Amino acid sequence: MSEIPNWNLDQLYVEDSDKINTDLEALDERGEKFARWRDKLKEGLPTSDEFRQMVTELEDLTKLAHHLSGYAALYFAQNTQNQKALALMARVDEKMADLGNELLFFEIWWKELDEDKAAELMKGMSDYRYWLERTRAYRPHTLAESQEKVINLKNITGHDALIALYDSITNRYRYKTEGLPGEDGREVTRDELMVHVRSAEAGVRAAAYQELYRVYGQDGPILGQIYQTAVRDWRIENIRLRNYVAPAAVRHKANDLRPETVESLLKVAKTNAPLFGEFFRLKAATLGLGKLRRYDIYAPLLADESVVNFDDGVKEVMGAFDKFSPRFKELAENIVKEDRFSARPAAGKQGGAFCYSMLPGETPWVLMTYNGRRQDLFTMAHELGHGIHSQLAARHNTFEFHATLPLAETASTFGEMLLADRIMGQLENKRARANMLFHLLDDAYATVCRQAFFAMFEITAHEMVEKGATVDELADAYMLNLSDQFGDAVEISDEFRWEWVSIPHIFHTPFYVYAYTFGQLLVYSLWRQYQKDGDDFVPRLTGLLSKGGSAPPELIVEESGLGPLDESFWQGGFDVIADLLAELKKTLD
Ligand SMILES: [Zn+2]
Repeated sequence: MSEIPNWNLDQLYVEDSDKINTDLEALDERGEKFARWRDKLKEGLPTSDEFRQMVTELEDLTKLAHHLSGYAALYFAQNTQNQKALALMARVDEKMADLGNELLFFEIWWKELDEDKAAELMKGMSDYRYWLERTRAYRPHTLAESQEKVINLKNITGHDALIALYDSITNRYRYKTEGLPGEDGREVTRDELMVHVRSAEAGVRAAAYQELYRVYGQDGPILGQIYQTAVRDWRIENIRLRNYVAPAAVRHKANDLRPETVESLLKVAKTNAPLFGEFFRLKAATLGLGKLRRYDIYAPLLADESVVNFDDGVKEVMGAFDKFSPRFKELAENIVKEDRFSARPAAGKQGGAFCYSMLPGETPWVLMTYNGRRQDLFTMAHELGHGIHSQLAARHNTFEFHATLPLAETASTFGEMLLADRIMGQLENKRARANMLFHLLDDAYATVCRQAFFAMFEITAHEMVEKGATVDELADAYMLNLSDQFGDAVEISDEFRWEWVSIPHIFHTPFYVYAYTFGQLLVYSLWRQYQKDGDDFVPRLTGLLSKGGSAPPELIVEESGLGPLDESFWQGGFDVIADLLAELKKTLD
């Protein structure tokens, strides 16, 4: 077996080389040069040639900035204990903040420009149209500059401070581990505690959840009050001042989605919730439990201890891509062959995994820690999937090649589906098959159903707070949301009334969570089409991915012949989940 690879960052900058300094200086110079346009713009409308020149200059300096900040991020990720990396990161961050301020005038000018003048300038710029339009899309919701300034300033000590307070309070929480195996009574973090909800022992799972919500519940009234205030702030700013029609409309705008698309998504998710109820009943029966408790949602069937060496792992993942399309395999292999894949475990290495696509036309960088567990194979398929996506989108400019949030997880999640399909095809042992299907359905529940119901709760909560609801009333509404979600398939104990105050997303980024449901169900629905159409489907998906972030998500899906994103589209996704469930039943018979 060959050694687990590391990446070679020398391809960007050689450590300590002077090139970093000269590039940072060059960035300053280009920033200053670009800033000269500010006076020019005051004199009047630029010609089309001048406008193109401006955009080109801006893109060039953005590329250099991405190289520098990208290198700093990767250098830091490979060893977060490296003081030199920390120093470089701080230096680059500061430079980027300065640069951002220096360039801001362009965005403001472009956004404020009259409709007819903007249309005139946009005529010759079809290759940048979406980016230019997106910048102007916030025009109806933008206030006068002096008002924007006041909001920014007051946010520092107002809204942002409030959310920082939530983080400070909850990040300090430590959890008791009495009765939890292998912890010898020490106090642990939330991540460490949550490992136990996947324990094979029912008592351990219950104890872990009870401890989590004991701690959150103690502060429930305070955290709830923080939430109420954040929700009021959201309404005052976005509805009253910025003229959005509804609290969630702010997020739809950021995702560039039509409200109807999200409404149909959530509607279908709600209608299909009983499918997961059925899964949970089956899970209870398989585990020999009378009725599943909320504590048992992630209970495992088997402890999965198989270990796959790295070479075999890569072979599996590449084989999965290859079966779909040799081109996919080739693009994934670029990352490995060009020494842009860091998989070797190392002290100080950043946890988790990511794919970093710096610039169009450059092979992306992937970081993960390979320990040979099955989950690591899925992580590899996921991150390399991201890398395939951005390489396919390489013909777009720097501002449009990254997929926007709703489509950002398409290739990554699809890659996981391909791998799951391959592994299922190889597993003969019934229990191992059932175990894998349990995993897939657990994931489907956590990403599709659970997140959709969070989003539904947020919509309700924002309405309730507007009408003066108390924290207890919000907690009651959350319990109703859970009983809607689980029906009578799962027993929910009372401490779960505090679950919502433990979800950072709903504090930090209201309505963000539906993006998870969107991304996962989109891929299931695409998978459905692949099952039906076989190889005819391949160019359609490739087409979708090649569009990167160069158009609104709905349009990208439709123009690739894969939409429209209506109720029947989303239902197609649930049909895949129903198939997995049917397969599981068959396997357990
Ligand atoms: Zn991802």
